[in-house]
Formats: sequence, structure tokens, C-alpha cells
Amino acid sequence: MSRFWSPSVHTLEPYVPGEQPRMADLLKLNTNESPYGPSPRVLEAIRAATDDTLRLYPDPTALSLRETIARVYDVGVDEVFVGNGSDEVLAHTFAALLRQDGPLLFPDVTYSFYPVYCGLYGITYAEVPLDADFRIDIAGYDRACGAIIIANPNAPTGIALPLSAIEALLTRHADRPVVIDEAYVDFGAESAVSLVRRHPNLLVVHTLSKSRALAGLRVGYAIGQAHLIEGLTRVKDSFNSYPLDRLALAGAQAAIADTAWLAETSARLIASRMALTDGLQALGFDVLPSHANFVFARHHARSAAGLSQALRDEAILVRHFRAERIRDWMRITVGTDAQCSRLLEALRAILSRNDAQTGQAV
Ligand code: PMP
Repeated sequence: MSRFWSPSVHTLEPYVPGEQPRMADLLKLNTNESPYGPSPRVLEAIRAATDDTLRLYPDPTALSLRETIARVYDVGVDEVFVGNGSDEVLAHTFAALLRQDGPLLFPDVTYSFYPVYCGLYGITYAEVPLDADFRIDIAGYDRACGAIIIANPNAPTGIALPLSAIEALLTRHADRPVVIDEAYVDFGAESAVSLVRRHPNLLVVHTLSKSRALAGLRVGYAIGQAHLIEGLTRVKDSFNSYPLDRLALAGAQAAIADTAWLAETSARLIASRMALTDGLQALGFDVLPSHANFVFARHHARSAAGLSQALRDEAILVRHFRAERIRDWMRITVGTDAQCSRLLEALRAILSRNDAQTGQAV
């Protein structure tokens, strides 16, 4: 608190990211980072770009990277926007498209940065409850609104909507911007990028932080018709002309171009997710059907707060949210098979310890 703050800063409720502590032998399953390194071509490209040209500003239009994204996704280069992480792309999206004459709609359980951006930009919003199975019911969005944003797959549930439901939403709200945040789409869900040509109100947001294993590089992008991208660019150029530095541009371009690496590592992660889900169920957890690189799990007898603390004592971090509706659940990032085994072993030990203490059956 300071009397020197601008008045609006007092009422901000900032997003709290998952922690990045320094601990010996830490197993980080709390922020949905990739357990694999990025494509070797990314590292080569960054090394090659690490030279005297760093004294020069990067390309403010990120043209070369946008051309690569346009080629891989079969869209026009004027249909691609890039930013410093998809969080920045989302921030510009909230400012450019989502401040309308009615409330912004999003699920009651979703990425908790959305209400934070609303606070920052003075956007009114309404939360649409997920159904009893934590699924998005698009009928709940049949109401007056200014715009809609949905994460697909949703976070932290991991549940994906089929493309048919997204298209129905786009058609029913044809005169409103609809943003689909596809941070986790590469782990088995259907992308709405194929709908961009038919739907002028659709913006799809992606990140390189998850399936391309580049959370540390901070690159995200959006795909939508050129008129939407122009709005985002206007906001970006009123904020920071050079959001992506030279190394990020080089690395991101190599990452997008290496589609084989993406396919191989995503398939590996999906196989580990299935094994982790089976292992958790065998230990007495309910696990929601995930299409993401994390699972959302609830133990039938143990509190999520207690379990995540006990795991922390074993240097294993998972994410636990305090929000009322999901406080019994833990979000666990899918690691390598070896990491998943370590987690399951630790949980087995914790649960049997607790059972011995309380006499409760698992
Ligand atoms: N969208 C969703 C749904 C997320 O979970 C995240 C990761 N916290 C992001 C966007 C932002 O990712 P990044 O800024 O690393 O691209």
C-alpha cells in the first residue's frame, strides 16, 4: 500500500502464479510445464541468434515468426498475432475485443487470470457454472452478453469441448467476439483454428509454454480474421512495440516449424497421462477425463489441502486451489513416466501412513 499509487491500483486483485521454489530434488508438477526439453532445433536457433545483432531492436512486426505460424496453420500472415506469452496475448485481447456493452461470460471454474484482466481493464463479467460433472454446458451461454471467453480444454479441469459445441457457440453469438484459449489443445483436443475462415467473431489463442516446452521463452499467439488481429495490433503498438526479443523470435520460429517434435512429445505425454490416471484411480482418486497435460483429481477420503502439503514435504509440488467449488481437488501436471511413478509412490506412502494413523480405509 502506498499513497503514491494510482487510485485504481488499490483495487487490483493480481493473479498468483504457481510457485517456482528452489528445493533439492524438486518434482514440479504444479505449473503445467513440459517434462521434456524443447526441440533441439530451438536451442540451435537461439544459439545462432546469440550474436552482435542483439544490439539491434527486433522486428516489431515479428513477420518471419508470423509467416511460419501462418504456413503451419494454413492461415494468412495477417491472421496471426504474437505476444510475450499467451498471457500478454490474452491481456491485449481483453483490451481490444472483450470490453463490450454487456458482461463478458466465462465458466465459474476456469483460468483464474480472466477475472484479473477484467479488474485491470474495468470489464464487467458473469460466471457461467460448469455442470455437476465439471463440463461446460454451452446452453448456459444463451443470455445477453458482450463477449465470451472459454479455455478449451478447460483449466484446471482438463475437460475438452468438441468442435461442434464451439461452432454452435460461435453461431449463436455471431455478433459477439468469442475467444477460445487453446493453451492445452495439442494434448488431444480439437482446435478451433479450422473455424476461423467461417467465423469472423472467433479468436483462437495458443501458447508455446506447454506443448512446445518453452514456458521460459514467453511466446504466445492468436489466430483470427485480419480485422480482429488489427485490433490486437493497435493495442500492442500502444503498449510495447517489441514484445518479443530476438532470441524469442528465433526460438519460437524453430519450435513452430518442428511439427514432428510436437507430434512425438505430445503422443508420449498422452500415454503418460493415461498411466497416471489409472494409477491415481487405483489409489482411490476420482480423475476427470483430461485432454490436457495435467489431471484434476480428488481423493475419496483425504483432503486435497492435506495431500498437497504432504507431497510438498516430499519435494513434490502439485497445484491446489482454495476456491470453494474445487477445494477438494488437486491439479497435477503430467510428467515423464518416471516422475509420475515417483508421485504415485509418494501418494501411496502418504495414504497408508494416514490410514495407519486414523484407521480409515482408503
Ligand atoms: N491460458 C491458460 C488456460 C493457461 O493455463 C495458461 C498458463 N498459466 C495460459 C493461458 C498462459 O500461458 P503463457 O502465458 O505461459 O503462454
